[in-house]
Amino acid sequence: MSEHARATALRELCLACGLCCNGGLFARVPVAPAEVERLRGRGLVVVSHRGEAALRQPCAAWSEAGCSCYPERPARCAEYQCHLYARLAAGAIDPSAAHARLGRILELVATLTRAFGGVEAGSAIRRAAAVLAAPPPIAAEHARLALDLVELVRLVTRELDARFAAPAELDAVDAAVPGPGAGPRPEELRR
Ligand code: SF4
Ligand code: SF4
Repeated sequence: MSEHARATALRELCLACGLCCNGGLFARVPVAPAEVERLRGRGLVVVSHRGEAALRQPCAAWSEAGCSCYPERPARCAEYQCHLYARLAAGAIDPSAAHARLGRILELVATLTRAFGGVEAGSAIRRAAAVLAAPPPIAAEHARLALDLVELVRLVTRELDARFAAPAELDAVDAAVPGPGAGPRPEELRR
């Protein structure tokens, strides 16, 4: 594959995904003090988290058209590569296989977003990880949902970011914020 074709494939993968920008994987992105004013000037929301500046996600710069401040994005954004991206960049997987793997993740995100009552798309991943990380076990009547939670976290850990294997160590698992819909909340999945 040519360099141009590889770059196109990477861009298409990220445009189809957006999970490291839309709040799916991360609740916030650390930013350097020198970046704060520039990002705020672009209309992005920079908050203080444990005394450090952080770009809040879902990121205001993200849309289906991609990152609106791509040339000026934070250094952490420029550095980040999920496993799937890195493998595609290295030629270790072809674009159709990468999209197939991403597709199942996005399908599960959509299912769990509906189940959790319509929270913003991506946070279903962090909520799934949080549910699985804390006892007690999920109630039997939510067995189907439990299987989806397990599959989603397993796939995200394997395909995108291994830190989801130990979400307590990942500074991305926010307290679950109830969505506006009628679906069960994470805490309601248990007896
Ligand atoms: S999670 Fe990976 S594939 Fe998805 S937008 Fe981020 S870098 Fe691209
Ligand atoms: S600044 Fe751009 S790359 Fe960084 S989180 Fe926002 S949309 Fe994504």
